Order: sequence, then structure tokens, then C-alpha cells
Amino acid sequence: MRYSRALIPTLKETPADAEVVSHQLMLRAGMIRQLSPGVYSFLPLGLRTIRKIERIIREEMDAADGQEVELPIVHPAELWMESGRWERMGPELLRFKDRRGRDAVLAATNEEVITDLVRRELRSWRQLPLHLYQIRVKYRDEIRPRFGVMRGREFTMEDGYTFDADEAGLEASYQKLYRAYSNVFRRCGLEFRAVEADTGAIGGSSSHEFMVLADSGEDAVAICTACEYAANVEKAAIAPPPPSPRDGEVPAPERVATPGVRSVDDVARFFGVPASRVLKTLLFEGDGRVFAVVVRGDHEVNEVKLRTALGLATVAPVAEERVPAIAGAKVGSIGPVGLPVETIADAWVSTVTDGIAGARVDDHHLKHVVPGRDFSPTRTLDLRTAVDGDPCPRCGGALAIRRGIEVGHIFKLGTKYSEAMRCTFLDANGVERPAIMGTYGIGVGRTMAAAIEQNHDKDGIIWPVPIAPYHVTVLPLATTGEVMARAERLYDDLRAAGHDVLLDDRDERPGGKFKDADLIGIPIRVVVSDKTLKQGAAEVKVRRTGEVRMVPLDEAVAEVGRLLAALSAPTR
Ligand code: ATP
Ligand code: MG
Repeated sequence: MRYSRALIPTLKETPADAEVVSHQLMLRAGMIRQLSPGVYSFLPLGLRTIRKIERIIREEMDAADGQEVELPIVHPAELWMESGRWERMGPELLRFKDRRGRDAVLAATNEEVITDLVRRELRSWRQLPLHLYQIRVKYRDEIRPRFGVMRGREFTMEDGYTFDADEAGLEASYQKLYRAYSNVFRRCGLEFRAVEADTGAIGGSSSHEFMVLADSGEDAVAICTACEYAANVEKAAIAPPPPSPRDGEVPAPERVATPGVRSVDDVARFFGVPASRVLKTLLFEGDGRVFAVVVRGDHEVNEVKLRTALGLATVAPVAEERVPAIAGAKVGSIGPVGLPVETIADAWVSTVTDGIAGARVDDHHLKHVVPGRDFSPTRTLDLRTAVDGDPCPRCGGALAIRRGIEVGHIFKLGTKYSEAMRCTFLDANGVERPAIMGTYGIGVGRTMAAAIEQNHDKDGIIWPVPIAPYHVTVLPLATTGEVMARAERLYDDLRAAGHDVLLDDRDERPGGKFKDADLIGIPIRVVVSDKTLKQGAAEVKVRRTGEVRMVPLDEAVAEVGRLLAALSAPTR
């Protein structure tokens, strides 16, 4: 491509409304423009990267026995009613009526449509396993679209679905897709981890999220520093604490007036103890029953773990104004001793051998509270959110908490949709069974943004070679004469060698061309000028390392090829 003919509207200033670096750089590099909140147009340069990511995805899905399909964007509401998601999905699902007054939705995901498609064709176990996928736009009316294409309302997603005859088949399909997704993100040049994820409201038995590690990530992940364990903090398990020996006899609980002392920090300061010696008591409500949860003052109750551990459909904190009637005191003074509702404790509460707790009398606390002696939880479970340094549930090593961007998600669905929508087949014995499904998704734009979050410097993007919009930019410092003629020849030769090349033939000052080349993040820059030609050479610069060298003109194409190959070699 000739830059003079290209639509690459780069910006010098950082747009004020772009919070994260990938959003800023995609705007500044002229790759995207916003149409409305969360809705973006891709310009030619941005679309080149999108298409490269899509090609990698397609190759890996095809290698994983996937067959590409193309499903409609507008779905009749009846299908979503059949699965029950018409009610469950809430306002994220964009709904509208057609001219006949029929309810319709825009595709947010396609479990209903694919299940409908397959149920009409599936007869026998001989047709299974089946892996169908597509790469197409989705619409979700996100409550908080932000970070550019990272969390958009309209975005392209690869969505895949597998159908198997039995659990073993599902397991094999899931493993195959786990590997395929790992390959995709590795080939995109990303540093990522597959982490165990909560299976949430969709239900299902197992799920992994592919997380690109970056400080701007919206998710927190717990990663073991000693073994392979990695999980979303929403569900990360924590090994139980070692037994805590009691040091001497603890006196009986003693009530102390604590006017105005409410938060854990207030309590710790008032009594001159660390927050880890405070016992925090919270009331929750789940599936119509109220119960109390006790955690250490320096820990937080994890509602996802709580819901899962208790096997509840929903849990939520009890509204503050209802607390006194249930617990006998306001929030801030409630405690576990004598509490008239079921009390469940986090496992780490046992490390408190002489604690401080609310006295269940407004503005009073108890000191010398001993769990097991002064109150007896009906159950002790792993209910809190992991923090840095907590012991790994698998090996006991230290967990580290990192930020992550969820770029992909794989999920064992089981028979949730195939039962609700009667997607069945006859097994080898002629018995009718529901197909066992898996669902898989990659955010294409989010993957692009995540790549920038991981690969940039103060001057701009540093594209991993496989997803760079162009591999090489040829940059003549004059647009006429010998300099331009040599640059043109290099441009042709590099393209003939199979590289994607941008020839910066604009009549611009060198400084501006250099800045744009760095901003756009093209891996290799080849400068041709009077000075380089005097040495019969071109100046070759590697964007990632900044390494610059003079290369004889007739060796330039080979050198660029060698550098690109070296840059593409997996290093992680
Ligand atoms: P999140 O928790 O970030 O909302 P999700 O659980 O809703 O994600 P899935 O339904 O599993 O996401 O979708 C699969 C993939 O689609 C995600 O891993 C992500 O890469 C991408 N994705 C989801 N929502 C968006 C969005 N609003 N904008 C861009 N990509 C998205
Ligand atoms: Mg979502």
C-alpha cells in the first residue's frame, strides 16, 4: 500500500475520553472511530489486524475439526423464549419488533440458533461429534461500554459450539478446543493464562477463561507461583490454614462501649489490634433464607464462592435497614455470639484465637471472642476472596493476584439447551438422548486491544508480527529521484517476497514519517535516503528492540525476511 493513497488518519494528541492505552493508540493510529457509545467503525489499517486475527482463528478451528457456518443476526424471540433466556437475559439483550409486530432480538450469542439448526438435522449418534463455528458480529447492550472495542456494544466474536453423544465425547471436544484456543492466543503473540472460571447463571459443569495478563484488565486472576493452578478470583480456592495453637487461656468475652466505631479499621484502631484479629459478621439472603457469614476483618466474603459452596441460585447481602430486626443491632455492631440465625464461617476464622467482634448491642463490641468456644458455626467453608500470598489449593505455594483481560471463554454446557429445546439423537441402542454441548467464544476486537495493552511503548504500538497490519514500512526520505526509485524497487521486491508492505511515499518531513511509523507499530522500518545510498545501503530498524543497522541494498529483502522470522518465533 502507498501511504499517500491510504486512509490512515493518525492523531498527534491523545484523545481525552480514551482511558486505556489500547483505546488511545487505536484512535491515534487511525484504526478505529466511534460511531456511538460502544459502537466502532474499523478503518483500513485496523481491519487488516482484525482479518489477521480472524485468519488465525479460522485456521485453528478448522484444525480442530470445526466447520464454519454463518448464522443470522436477527433472531425470532420465540427461540429465546424456548430456552428461557428471553426472561433471564435482561436489558443486555437488544429487543425490537419487526413491521408485523413480532418480537425479535439481535444476536448476543447463538446457543438457541445453533441448537435449533442442529436439532433439525441430527438423527443418529453417527453424526456426532460435531463442531460448528462462525466469526460474526454480536450485539450486547452493555450497561457500561468502555475501553474502546474492549467492551463494546457491537463487536465481532468467534462463537463455536460442539455436540457430542456422551460425557467422554464432550471432554474430548473441550480439550481439543482448549488446545485450539491456546494456539490462537499464542500465535497472536500474547502472554496469557487459561484460568478456571465460575460457571455462573448459564449453569454447566466446567469453564475456562483465557486471560491476557495486563494491568488494565477488568478481571482479577489468582495464579500460583509454584504450580499450574490459575483461576478467576471470583472462584479461586484457598488452601485451609494450618492449625492455630492457642497461646494460654483466653478470658471470657468482655463487652466494651465503642461509640462511633463501625468499620473494621475503626475497630482495629480502637482496640490496637491488626484487622486480622477482628471478626466480621455479615448477613446474607439466598433462595429465601437468611444466614450470617463470619470472615476475618482483613478478608472479604466472595459471593460467587458463597453461592456455589451453599448450592444456591442467588445470594445477596441483606439490606442494611433490615439488619437490626434480624441481628439485634445495627450494621457495625453485629457479631456472631448469640446470633439467632444460622452462622457459617470462612475456614480462616479459625486462625483468630482471641478476637474482637460486634456485641449485638449498638455501639458495643466484645473482646476475647474465641471461635468454637463463644460461637459455633454450623459450617466452615472456603468463602473468601483470595489475596496475594494466600496458599494455593493444589500445592500450597503462594498465589499471586494479577489483572487479566478475558479474550476467550470455553464452557461445558452439558444438556441445558439440548433438553430445553429437544435437540436429541438416537444412540447405538436406539435410545433417544439429548446432545451434550459445549460453547466457545473469542472476542476478536478485544484480542486486538489486549495485544496492544501488552505490546506498546511511549511512541506507540509494537505489533506482534503475525497480527501486524503491515510487516514492513519502506520510508524514503525524498519522494523523487534515485531515493524514490530505490524505495519503489524495495517495495516491489519485499511484496514479491510475500511481505505486507507500506510505502511511505508522502511528501512529509522525515520526523513526521518516523513518528507515524512508530505509532502504527510496524515491526520493521526500512529507510532509504541520500545518505544510505552513498553506502549502497538501506537503514533497517526493528520496532521492538530499536536496533538499527545498515544493510546493503541487495541484501535488504533477505535481511527483512530473517528479522521477521526471528521476531515471529515463539519466545514464550
Ligand atoms: P465479560 O465478562 O467480559 O462481559 P462474557 O462472559 O460476557 O465477558 P462471553 O459471553 O463468554 O463473554 O463471550 C466470549 C468472548 O467475547 C469474551 O471472552 C470476550 O473476549 C468477548 N466479549 C464479550 N463481551 C464483549 C464486549 N462487550 N466487547 C467486546 N468483546 C466482548
Ligand atoms: Mg458480558
